[in-house]
Amino acid sequence: MAKKVAVIGAGLMGSGIAQVSAQAGWDVVLRDVTESALTRGVDGIKASYDKFVSKGKLAAEDAEAALGRITTTVDLDAAADADVVVEAVFERIDIKREIFTELDKLVKADAILASNTSAIPITKIAAATQRPERVVGTHFFSPVPMMALCELVRGHRTSDETLATAREFAEGVGKTCVTVNRDVAGFVTTRLIAALVVEAAKLAESGVATPEDIDTACKLGFGHAMGPLATADLTGVDILLHASENIYTESQDEKFAPPESMRRMVDAGDIGRKSGRGYYSY
Ligand code: NAD
Repeated sequence: MAKKVAVIGAGLMGSGIAQVSAQAGWDVVLRDVTESALTRGVDGIKASYDKFVSKGKLAAEDAEAALGRITTTVDLDAAADADVVVEAVFERIDIKREIFTELDKLVKADAILASNTSAIPITKIAAATQRPERVVGTHFFSPVPMMALCELVRGHRTSDETLATAREFAEGVGKTCVTVNRDVAGFVTTRLIAALVVEAAKLAESGVATPEDIDTACKLGFGHAMGPLATADLTGVDILLHASENIYTESQDEKFAPPESMRRMVDAGDIGRKSGRGYYSY
């Protein structure tokens, strides 16, 4: 019998995780709070499968079979017989803790509970359950069907067995995993990009180099696909400001302290591509 994954939250990430899981042969139950969110999620999955089919990267019958493995529900109880649960709801600790408390009461004893959080410590989510050893972070990247990385995060009490099961799941859906052995703020990926963006913003603020030259240095000097300030504009200067402030608060490590100019940009609404202006104009 195929294994079953319950994906909680049918937004951008949840629908992507459901999509790659179904394609890898998992039975998927996708849960959200409204039917409209579920419809939006499944429509996105269909559109993405169609794109892969039209590009010749997926057989039409495989896409149809994968879609057939996905069911949707507004009822959390549908997760009861899942082997793996992946939570991908809004990035709010109160909502996530509430869901994990509920899941803990209803899922099988040997099921693992994973969160796709980008920044909330897994330990804080795990503490809402009676099984913190079976709670783990599976940090997928957007868009899930395209991005190869999954950052596995070990909470303070996560067991080796849970980490191994999470790895098996993520690798099974086609991802390459990196393991974050200690539940630090920003894990590995957000810590690296925050450190780079903060230093780039400081160099730009102090006039050491222009944003263009800083980005060119990273692209041509280190082979980065995109410079840190262009990355900040793409991700949102506000998002990266918030992420580095959070890491700085937790770690008290000065290298994550964002410069004032970054705050003023956000105050002014110059948050990057989505506002038309950030380190560059669009
Ligand atoms: P999103 O806003 O697209 O989707 C969140 C979904 O959760 C919505 O459909 C909402 O209706 C649903 N939801 C809210 N409460 C719920 C509940 N109690 N039960 C079930 N569903 C519920 O968000 P997203 O971008 O998919 O992000 C989800 C998680 O993934 C967040 O923790 C986020 O930090 C993380 N993440 C996001 C990205 C990204 O690039 N967007 C990347 C990595 C990780």
